[in-house]
Amino acid sequence: MIGSGYGAAVAALRLTEAGVPTLMLEMGQSWSGGASASFCGMRSPDERSTWFAERTRAPLSSFLWMDLANRTIRRHAGVLDRVDFDEMSVYVGRGVGGGSLVNGAMAVTPRRDYLAETLPCVDVPEMYRTHFPRARAELGVNEIDPDWFETCRSYAYARLSRKQAHRAGLATTFVPSVYDFDYLRREEEGSVPRSALAAEVIYGNNHGKRSLDQTYLAAALRTGYLTIRTLHEVREIELEPDGRYTLTAREIDAEGTLLGVRRFGTDRLFLGAGSLGSTELLLRARETGRLPGLSTEVGRGWGGNGNVMLGRANHLWNTTGRLQSAMPALGIDNWDDPEHPVFAEVAPVPVGVETWLSLYLAITRNPERGRFSYDLATDSARLCWSAAQGQPAIDAAKATFDRINRANRTIYRYDLFGGTRPFENRFTYHPLGGVVLDKATDAYGRVRGYRNLYVTDGALIPGSTGVNPFVTITALAERNLERVLAEDVQPARSFS
Ligand SMILES: Cc1cc2nc3c(=O)[nH]c(=O)nc-3n(C[C@H](O)[C@H](O)[C@H](O)COP(=O)(O)OP(=O)(O)OC[C@H]3O[C@@H](n4cnc5c(N)ncnc54)[C@H](O)[C@@H]3O)c2cc1C
Repeated sequence: MIGSGYGAAVAALRLTEAGVPTLMLEMGQSWSGGASASFCGMRSPDERSTWFAERTRAPLSSFLWMDLANRTIRRHAGVLDRVDFDEMSVYVGRGVGGGSLVNGAMAVTPRRDYLAETLPCVDVPEMYRTHFPRARAELGVNEIDPDWFETCRSYAYARLSRKQAHRAGLATTFVPSVYDFDYLRREEEGSVPRSALAAEVIYGNNHGKRSLDQTYLAAALRTGYLTIRTLHEVREIELEPDGRYTLTAREIDAEGTLLGVRRFGTDRLFLGAGSLGSTELLLRARETGRLPGLSTEVGRGWGGNGNVMLGRANHLWNTTGRLQSAMPALGIDNWDDPEHPVFAEVAPVPVGVETWLSLYLAITRNPERGRFSYDLATDSARLCWSAAQGQPAIDAAKATFDRINRANRTIYRYDLFGGTRPFENRFTYHPLGGVVLDKATDAYGRVRGYRNLYVTDGALIPGSTGVNPFVTITALAERNLERVLAEDVQPARSFS
């Protein structure tokens, strides 16, 4: 198994429950014990924040055109990485638990009609009957107490955005979460150490969040059949004449020193390295001739879930509050708009002072797709995605937020994203696609052209889920694993 994010964690639990000894190779560190057991907050990031960089690379770093959020740091195996392509940057989590360590915990089930449209090979009623409930239960999804939401300090910023959205005739909805809302309430009361209320999110949470190391992966470890090797980056996949796969991995220490190049053999290989990681591994294998029979579909169908960030400037009498929960709990749901569907989460600005800033991450329906190619010179995948391909996402976000601005006589913020750009869509938190289900794989994630080779993560989803994606990734992995276990896997196979 390569990687330890949502897809990999599901595969690890279901395989180990079935008695299959499973080795998981993860390029990041373990954050749930030992020397790196604690995370740093966003207000004073240190080397734990960022994956091998001299300076932090916060997504929202500019305020009044000044870079107030970033710090010079020591190079280290920190928890958040930003992978830069020519005209798109992708944020990903690094560590045991993948994106679950750094994400905003929003656990949203997608709309049925949109799931049916994006993944036509999937039995949609079965997903909602079995796999979404299973995923939500294992992930520990919970809902905010609506009465507490109305009176707490932590979500004054969300209540203001809700009022302004309603004034524009737009619907809002609470967003389920894997952050423990009961813990959050106690944070505000002052009876437990603060995490969401101490600006902890993108560099990890020390409390409150049910990341995968506490849910799926903890359960898989309890079976006794899972072994996790950290700081192992898989570089190559080869097929041996006897049908087994050999993986070549670089083992480093947390400071980046190469400790050795290790080889692992397995008769069954699951790729859960995320949209970027799994796609790159398969592309490299195809283009270097190690797995030449892989489909030409590998590398296609990539999208950033139509992500657009934007800010609005509030009037002086509309304060957003100094105390803000770093875990979003409210979304503006304008997905039914026939021309410009948008689902926008109301994002926090947890800097500890009043900013009069309302911030949003809009998820839009952008039909544009990118494509990866393999670059021999750098031995890495290159994403072919142009800024122009992001324009439909900006148009959609603008249509919704122009309405909100008109209804509230407010304007966009022009100081947040460099220059005077009011919209930011040159980065995404939601990379999806590259090894799309029923194209580069069969309808259950079995990679076309090879036996016993599977993809189990966000690479399977063709670029868009219409909502935050991890619940969909988890439920899809549950569905695929159920079939693969029933049809392909005999217990007591082993790795060496
Ligand atoms: C800041 C941020 C906020 C987000 N907020 C939300 C949210 O609130 N709700 C939501 O639904 N989604 C959110 N997301 C997105 C969500 O986290 C991802 O969609 C999800 O983690 C993807 O799951 P995955 O299984 O595809 O892979 P990942 O979770 O990305 O896991 C892949 C793992 O594989 C490892 N890996 C990669 N390559 C290799 C290799 N070659 N060898 C070994 N290991 C490798 C990586 O280090 C990583 O740990 C957010 C993401 C970010 C970055």
